[in-house]
Amino acid sequence: MIRALSAAAALPLVIFSAAASPRIAAQAPERPRLLVVVVVDQMRNDYLDRMAPLWTRGMKRLLTEGAVFERNFYPYLQTVTCAGHATIGTGSFPATHGIIMNSWWRGTRNGTCTEDAAVKPIGYEPDAESVGHSAVQLLVPTMADRLRETSPAARVVSLSIKPRSAIMMAGKGGVVTWTDDHNKWATSTAYSAAPDPDVQAFVNAHPRLALRGEVWQRLLEAERYTGVDDGMGEKPPSGWTTQFPHPMAGGPGTSEDQFYTLWENSPYADAYLGAMAADLVKRKKLGQGPAVDLLAISFSALDYVGHKFGPDSHEVQDTLLRLDVTVGDLLDSLDTSVGRGRYLLGLSADHGVAPIPEAWVAEGHEGGRIALQQLARAANAALVESLGPGEHVARAEYTQIYLSAAAGQRVAENPALLQPVLAALERLPGVLRAMPSAGLEAARDSKDLVVRAAALSHVAGRSGQIVIVPRPYYIVGGSDATTHGTHNPYDQHVPLIFFGTGVVAGRYDTPSTPADLTPTLAARIGLQMPGVDGVARTAIFRAH
Ligand SMILES: [Zn+2]
Repeated sequence: MIRALSAAAALPLVIFSAAASPRIAAQAPERPRLLVVVVVDQMRNDYLDRMAPLWTRGMKRLLTEGAVFERNFYPYLQTVTCAGHATIGTGSFPATHGIIMNSWWRGTRNGTCTEDAAVKPIGYEPDAESVGHSAVQLLVPTMADRLRETSPAARVVSLSIKPRSAIMMAGKGGVVTWTDDHNKWATSTAYSAAPDPDVQAFVNAHPRLALRGEVWQRLLEAERYTGVDDGMGEKPPSGWTTQFPHPMAGGPGTSEDQFYTLWENSPYADAYLGAMAADLVKRKKLGQGPAVDLLAISFSALDYVGHKFGPDSHEVQDTLLRLDVTVGDLLDSLDTSVGRGRYLLGLSADHGVAPIPEAWVAEGHEGGRIALQQLARAANAALVESLGPGEHVARAEYTQIYLSAAAGQRVAENPALLQPVLAALERLPGVLRAMPSAGLEAARDSKDLVVRAAALSHVAGRSGQIVIVPRPYYIVGGSDATTHGTHNPYDQHVPLIFFGTGVVAGRYDTPSTPADLTPTLAARIGLQMPGVDGVARTAIFRAH
């Protein structure tokens, strides 16, 4: 621990309750009735320090009353949403849980981490999409799966704007709810034969279109925000400019579909999800049943806003200010419906984000963009030299290059054929290293942290033949203002905070990873999670 424990505030409470109620004090250990997993999509760890002076509600409570791990890093390369949520959900890294990216090449086409032809979508609103989603690609159980298996009375509710976030926190069962590609609330037959009546009641009672008259303004006066509103390289969604205010109705001619896109790019989406979570806890009486229940919630707005406006924008700062309110409202509601100290919460993020490259370069630093096409072209040109003319590269996806079936076969038989390809890729600006993925299974404990990061993101049969490691401040692919998905600290360093039942407030400098979140919650209720990569951080709990 690097700072004195702020347990002074918590200790008198324990002494007081022990004196007032010896019977309760004798019941050790305190057991939560509800576990709560909160993921904030794209929340970088440095946001905590930046925003702390301005936070007054939920985030302030978590930071002052919670156990805060200050050196919490993803150790793997492909720091993206589906991988991050699966890591938190299972307590293991992609090499173990199998979710290497948001989508990967399936031999003839790219497939998302959640699509499942064997299940049907179930819409809570008309015009749902036709694709079904499930955790079929997840190779190991989540904490939620283990909880339901060992304790059949346990209820699991998992919510997010993104299917991949809701699903990877939940696993194979529970009330799992997301908005689909048509921006409609949905689940699938993987989770339920019919719409959940409580979710349906909430969605019916809270039509999002009613928000069309709203205008997203800054919560505080403009002077309280750092930097400028119209920062270099911002790419606002259609209907908005780079500057506040952002009308939810968009500009003239903005369609209903575009409204839903603007909604998910705004803090209104987080507020809606937080209200839905609080409502479902009440309707389903989570935390008041015979078993310990689980609520998982992933707030996505920060990720959408961060991609479009960048981490230093007024929009990101405002999304974080409003998240503080949303989390505050959720904690207040849990205090009422479950009880203060009767729930145990863990908060983390699925990844961070890079600064907008153009803005970074304008400040005199090195950085830039690596286009996926550029990677594919360079790799193909080098392969043509050894294999003859043809399309040898099937797909470049984030930091993975997939070869065609024929080229993949030749390379598997003769790995030396890759050497000139790797050399060509490493000559591209922004590429730190290009390495073959073959053999990475054996490199998970490599002393070379870059190799180790690639190995922890590697799954044979899902990874490409070549892994690209970008130089710091070079982003790979995408048309957004900025993105994430690398081993650099701005992508890997995210918050890890525990709060609630038995948690001693304080700052911890023990190195940790987001894979520690669910094992720590599980340890408190005696739920076994054998074989996971994460570590249960039981030192945060009051001794008995
Ligand atoms: Zn993202």
